[in-house]
Amino acid sequence: MPADAGLIDLHAHTTASDGVLAPAELVSLALERGLSVLAVTDHDSTDGVRPAIEAAGGTGLSIVPGVELNTDVPRGEVHVLGYFVRPDLAPFQARLAELRRGRFERGRRMVDRLVEAGAPVSWPRVQEIAGDGAIGRPHVAQALIEAGHVATIQEAFERYIGQGRPAYVERVRFGPEDAVRSVLAAGGAPVLAHPVLSAPAMAGEREPMAAALAALEPRLDALQAAGLRGLEVYYGGYAEALIEALERVADRRGLIRTGGSDFHGGARVKAELGGVPIPTAVAEAVVDQLRSAAGR
Ligand code: AMP
Ligand code: MN
Ligand code: MN
Ligand code: MN
Repeated sequence: MPADAGLIDLHAHTTASDGVLAPAELVSLALERGLSVLAVTDHDSTDGVRPAIEAAGGTGLSIVPGVELNTDVPRGEVHVLGYFVRPDLAPFQARLAELRRGRFERGRRMVDRLVEAGAPVSWPRVQEIAGDGAIGRPHVAQALIEAGHVATIQEAFERYIGQGRPAYVERVRFGPEDAVRSVLAAGGAPVLAHPVLSAPAMAGEREPMAAALAALEPRLDALQAAGLRGLEVYYGGYAEALIEALERVADRRGLIRTGGSDFHGGARVKAELGGVPIPTAVAEAVVDQLRSAAGR
């Protein structure tokens, strides 16, 4: 990357999964915001990558191909980002298709549970909302809003589809280490997304943050043994104290520091596209670090 690296954002979604903007629209927004690097990281899909690269052609914006693989663990979720994955690899695409099929079945089962829970939504409508994209709970949440059962996506998760709620359904068996190995097999660099997700810990409250950081250590031991190469240190909503702690974790473990907004568009904006400050030294180094971690 050039020394005059501008804003970079290494975590964003499109309509290929649960983002609201089509890849070309995301690229337009990135250009408006003055980004120099944008990674397209849809859930279980790389379908947004090529259209984004095409839309960015001839502009100053460089697109990093990526993916985000969501996995369930007891009492939580672990999401693994894969950078510079090779979208053309057949076994990788077969794996992604299998994960998307799992999302389809899971969506349908969640709709069944919602009927039982007295908050019926229509499965065809959920599919329509998801369009060609990988089906996710935000699409179910949208249908719940339309049916008048909840007012916001947040409320849909809290009342119905969040982990432990009546219409929650686990995804297909696919663990965090499986996700890391899948990214490696696709020629990509695996990075742990949003390493801390509890709101008080994100806000930097002392005890919750210390507990979250302590819980992260055994997780990182296992993920690094599987081949993890980076940690998403800079993330929408992370307090400075948490970022500083994560910088130390990454440096101590030899993990590449990455960062991004996790932009989805629409009303679900945790951070604006390009809105997560990444130190210049990191922004200048990270793309080359990820590329070489991916063996490119
Ligand atoms: P899924 O991939 O189907 O498990 O759905 C998870 C997605 O839902 C995440 O990637 C976020 O985009 C979104 N999400 C998760 N939790 C919440 C929440 N509490 N409120 C709003 N959106 C959420
Ligand atoms: Mn999402
Ligand atoms: Mn995620
Ligand atoms: Mn994401």
